[in-house]
Amino acid sequence: MPLLPAFIRGLILDMDGVIWKADAPIGDLPAIFAEIRRRGLKFVFATNNSTRTPQQYVDQLARLGVAVEGWQVVTSSLAAADLIARQLPAHAPVFAIGEDGLIQALIEKNLIVLPAESAESAQAVVLGIDRKVNFQKMAEAALLVRRGVPFYATNLDKTFPTPRGQIPGAGAWASVIITASGSEPIVAGKPSTALMELALARLALPREAALVVGDRLETDIAAGQAAHCPTALVLSGVSTRAQAQAWAPKIDLIANHLTDIVTETV
Ligand SMILES: [Mg+2]
Repeated sequence: MPLLPAFIRGLILDMDGVIWKADAPIGDLPAIFAEIRRRGLKFVFATNNSTRTPQQYVDQLARLGVAVEGWQVVTSSLAAADLIARQLPAHAPVFAIGEDGLIQALIEKNLIVLPAESAESAQAVVLGIDRKVNFQKMAEAALLVRRGVPFYATNLDKTFPTPRGQIPGAGAWASVIITASGSEPIVAGKPSTALMELALARLALPREAALVVGDRLETDIAAGQAAHCPTALVLSGVSTRAQAQAWAPKIDLIANHLTDIVTETV
């Protein structure tokens, strides 16, 4: 019997630590997703990684033998752009510290992304991982936030996984602005619910029917629980079984891998 209860009709899947680890697939992905489809489950991927666009994930998944459509990928950048676009008029100028994933998400929401040289007129500041971050960008962001311009972060993950280990994540960079301004950002990614709400809207399912699957308690599981969705922790990434068992509120499912959640076991 598979672990999945019958009332689950969709999956909100984290990627790093669930689907792959440092780009190496976890399990037989084509078989896992064939089984997900055979069971008639809808699914979307929801990641705190703000650097890539949905299309880049669609391409990466295709290379691993999993065909998905663009609507099936939501990122913390999409959620941040969504939050900002709800507060500002179309074509409002914003200052962003981030990579393709964030810049494109803002442009698609009809926001104007200012360069650092003209950041002064921004009506919002948004920060994600930017591997070309520099002193000028951080200074402009701090000046704006100190002036009271709304401050958003794609996520507050302290670190970012790379094949060589953990490098400073969006949370580490946001802490520079927080320290310099005394203001906390509005957070789009997990454990906040904005990304979960976007994923739920894409699934078009009631939240009780959407299982949030992730490998990190403080982000994936916390976000799923905050959004009142059932949750599943997989042990193929960061958090351990002991940590999961100590977690409150209780996690609905704990499994070694995504495979164990969706496939028949003997
Ligand atoms: Mg993860």
